[in-house]
Amino acid sequence: MRLSELHTGERAVIQKVLGHGGFRKRIVEMGFIRGQEVEALLNAPLQDPVKYRIMNYEVSLRREEAQLIEVTHQTLPDSPPAPSCEGGEYNDHPADVTTPLPHRKGQGESPEGVGLAGLISVALVGNPNCGKTSLFNYASGAHARVGNYSGVTVDAAEAHAEFEGYDFQLIDLPGTYSLSAYSPEELYVRKYIVDQTPDVIINVIDASNLERNLYLTTQLIDMNVRVVCALNMYDEFERRGDTVDLQVLQTLLGVPMIPTSFKTGRGVKELFRAVVDAFESDHGLRHIHIPHGHEVEDGIHTIQQLLRQNADVSTHYSTRYLGIKLLENDKSIEQYVGQLPNATAIIAARDHAAQRIMEETAEDSETTIMDAKYGFIRGALAEAGYDVGTKEDTYRVTHRIDHLLSHRWFGFPIFFLILFVMFMTTFVLGQYPMDWIDAGVEWLGEFVSGTMPEGMLKDMIVDGIIAGVGSVIVFLPQILILYFFISFMEDSGYMARAAFIMDKLMHRMGLHGKSFIPLIMGFGCNVPAVMATRTIESRRSRLITMMILPFMSCSARLPIYIMITGLFFEPMWRPFVMMSLYVVGIIVSVIVSNIFSRFILRGEDTPFVMELPPYRWPTRKAIARHTWEKGKEYLKKMGGIILVASIIVWALGYFSTNGIATSIEESFIGHMGRFVEPLFVLQGFNWQLDVSLIAGVGAKEIVASTIGVLGGIDNITPLTAYCYLLFVLLYFPCIATIVAIKNETGSWRWALVAALYTTAVAWLVSAVVHQIGLLL
Ligand code: GDP
Ligand code: MG
Repeated sequence: MRLSELHTGERAVIQKVLGHGGFRKRIVEMGFIRGQEVEALLNAPLQDPVKYRIMNYEVSLRREEAQLIEVTHQTLPDSPPAPSCEGGEYNDHPADVTTPLPHRKGQGESPEGVGLAGLISVALVGNPNCGKTSLFNYASGAHARVGNYSGVTVDAAEAHAEFEGYDFQLIDLPGTYSLSAYSPEELYVRKYIVDQTPDVIINVIDASNLERNLYLTTQLIDMNVRVVCALNMYDEFERRGDTVDLQVLQTLLGVPMIPTSFKTGRGVKELFRAVVDAFESDHGLRHIHIPHGHEVEDGIHTIQQLLRQNADVSTHYSTRYLGIKLLENDKSIEQYVGQLPNATAIIAARDHAAQRIMEETAEDSETTIMDAKYGFIRGALAEAGYDVGTKEDTYRVTHRIDHLLSHRWFGFPIFFLILFVMFMTTFVLGQYPMDWIDAGVEWLGEFVSGTMPEGMLKDMIVDGIIAGVGSVIVFLPQILILYFFISFMEDSGYMARAAFIMDKLMHRMGLHGKSFIPLIMGFGCNVPAVMATRTIESRRSRLITMMILPFMSCSARLPIYIMITGLFFEPMWRPFVMMSLYVVGIIVSVIVSNIFSRFILRGEDTPFVMELPPYRWPTRKAIARHTWEKGKEYLKKMGGIILVASIIVWALGYFSTNGIATSIEESFIGHMGRFVEPLFVLQGFNWQLDVSLIAGVGAKEIVASTIGVLGGIDNITPLTAYCYLLFVLLYFPCIATIVAIKNETGSWRWALVAALYTTAVAWLVSAVVHQIGLLL
């Protein structure tokens, strides 16, 4: 029987995961291993994906993926006995047990004994939502975002904290379930650990979900780095009545285990104490090896011997870790090993070992290793007397809410109601502070122009800087309100549900449920939205999402809409005209993403294994911080690029080939407008409109202010005006967005593609609409 055939409320036991490659690996790493019990909990409103419970946590899977998991109703005879944790049998390989760990002491600044006791660089590693950022914030008072949606921390944040004279350099890394090279985050974290060699790693573990969280721990143990585990959410652990003997567990794993609750700061002192101990002692707990069964261990051993022939390998990596990764067919490690002089011998040894593992265990080496790790964890937890309590169901409230929010009939209406409230509040409520700021900017302009002496400087300040920047700052309230909602949704756990509900529709566009969130954020500002695509594991879905993001009408385009609709349409029609623009943007993005996914970026989709964490009521502090962080990002963008662009646009309109221009027409920008005029004949744009579009390349906010400066829109038809709005909606997003795409994709290629193709689409759509409109 397949998992997809399981009815809601039914339970079954996993027998085998079919399929291959990244899909399989991901599924198994998330805990879908032989012998595990799984329960079907809930269907999404469109009946796909489905929420399952496994290993005491909840996860969503698409039906097509659940179909690749073989299950049976009866419990299996106890699955292959968990390898003993004492594991002496395998530990006598002359492995890296005694190899000193990579240590950064001496790299620098504060030599020990002078001033501070020392600088300890501490990296926070752990699953998404386990509380890394909470610890980071608690310890440092830093302003990193706290979220309840996988991958909210998209970059490493750094802060300092002082503890007993030590300077802790804390690095908040993105959340990962594993350290295979599966998602950009996993690669990032792995690279960070290897390249930056943090002195100590704090592995934050969600104690209420111990079994799966320890999987990552076993991989850190493989890497042979100094690890201290924080058993976080210990409050939830206790409330549920879970029990485990921490003494036994830390001996078995060879890693200190400190119970913590970062919400209240409980255990942080003890944790830091343990970090200092790990840092100071070269022989704290003994370093253990996770036993993988003799077939795998023999393979690792052979590979290790070959690796050791290269002197400098072990300064960077634990050879055991490299051996394991090679047997897991890890591409980036293969690449690294590929440069070694005896690479062919190593790869041959790996292939030979994999072959033998296949013969002896009837499983590929990758699966055998994953199974062994989970077997080890299970064995260790059993020995430590781990027992999940029943005092309180962490998911009780969550189940009630989810039942409603994913309801077959009510799910979507509620979802759209939430979106509607969000946008209404943003734009209606935001109007008031917006008007105040607007009045303030106007007053400032008048004040400056009344007090400063006539001249170029005054013109630049009033018409360039104040007008340009002012037209942007007025949007700050709306941006803040929008991000307040988004923060709340992220921090509470609702964002993951949005992805769950939307996945089926997004999947049809060749996208992933997770693409929906960045797209929604795009209505605020495309720049952070592009950054938010990092949560999407599949590079392909991620690229497509970035490519269609510019069609989400960001709030910078709003003033142009308001201005133009105000001039050319009756009040009754204005909301419809505005709405139609948003809708056109969405329709174009659907078409374009279909084209991209069918013809340009073809390929396999990654599985939709997404954790659905229990709802947690976000703290006010976290929301306030998170919202402000976003607002700051917006202001930074404004302060930099838009200021420069405003001044350039002003200068282009102020000067001509012979000094100060007497009219805009003869200025540089006037010439530019005339130069491109022939390109926009089909749209019926006049040169003033062309000029404003050129100016808008810097930032779309500037389009409105340029039109304000130039005038010349009184003699165009409403049809042309509408086509102009369409063009503004669809063309080149803005320099900041293009730069963001370049940064996220790592090359100018996709940034250029985005810049050019959006403009081509804009040209085509506006031309077609104008020509058809003329016929009517
Ligand atoms: P990260 O993804 O690992 O950075 O996790 P966050 O720090 O963003 O935390 C995720 C959620 O868990 C937030 O809603 C936190 O308020 C909450 N949280 C963090 N630590 C604890 C804890 O010890 N107990 C409880 N009950 N909640 C916590
Ligand atoms: Mg975080």
